[in-house]
Amino acid sequence: MDQRRLSVRAPAKINLFLRVTGRRPDGYHLLATWMQKVDLCDLLELTVCAEGIHFRCAGAGVPGDHNNLVYRAADLFLRTTQGRRGLASSGVAIHLTKNIPVAAGLGGGSSDAAATLRAMNELFDGGLTPDELAGLGMRLGADVPFFLADSPAALATGIGEVLQPVPPLRGYAILLVNPGFPVSTRWVYQTFALTKQDESSNLTSSQECVAGGADLGGCGGAIGPETALVNDLETVTLARYPLIERLKGEMLRWGAVRALMSGSGPTVFGLFANREAAEACRAACKPRFAATYLVAPVGEK
Ligand code: ATP
Repeated sequence: MDQRRLSVRAPAKINLFLRVTGRRPDGYHLLATWMQKVDLCDLLELTVCAEGIHFRCAGAGVPGDHNNLVYRAADLFLRTTQGRRGLASSGVAIHLTKNIPVAAGLGGGSSDAAATLRAMNELFDGGLTPDELAGLGMRLGADVPFFLADSPAALATGIGEVLQPVPPLRGYAILLVNPGFPVSTRWVYQTFALTKQDESSNLTSSQECVAGGADLGGCGGAIGPETALVNDLETVTLARYPLIERLKGEMLRWGAVRALMSGSGPTVFGLFANREAAEACRAACKPRFAATYLVAPVGEK
């Protein structure tokens, strides 16, 4: 019996900067966003087996069947590489342990999908190139190519698939506080479009954003007093959930250098130059918000 197996970690991300720059005819929004992986991770254990996809998931809130992005990634990989795989077996058992809050703006599902694609390519000698993997990833979600890339931080444009690696953030403890309710990414983008009477007049020009974002991400991961962290999607999510604004204020009062909502929310992150201040803020938040995590940027060391 074939017992080839692999355990991999799938990190979360935060968006240090997110501007909506346009909308494609197919409805997808164009973005300029600075993404940074952080060391809060889901865990995946994959074991080659004779046939089929056998998926199990520990942790609440995600589909336990073929709708899970892990299952969909495994299925896509097996169908794409049929006939060109080095390994005769064509089945896989996957156990997912969810640690990243779901529908939280932390990219957990996309990261799980990326980790599955990479692990399967290795386990099955699939021989897919990084570009081929990114192409498959795009079919599963706009953030998947970022998680497939080796780089711990990137400036992403297009719908998130055009990646320019930037140096990782350095010198900050990052506090993540998830208020405990899910927010649908689809709802946020749909509402963003609807609340803009003349959407184009509210969109920052793509070029301006890329230049600004490259400055931000290109400055060695340091955030200076003049560095503006913005998230255009806050207009939608904060209007519906005022608690997010209050959480940002609380983090700033505890000494965060910056506090911002990540992605489409509702998770708020605070960047702390002082670790003791971050610890104190965590201790204050944890009794009210179970999903509170003190994390570090991936690639910092
Ligand atoms: P993003 O920041 O990329 O918009 P998110 O962090 O807000 O994503 P996810 O946690 O990735 O959101 O979940 C989005 C949706 O995908 C949820 O409704 C969830 O049920 C579904 N989903 C499917 N598979 C997974 C998975 N493995 N992990 C998390 N969510 C999954």
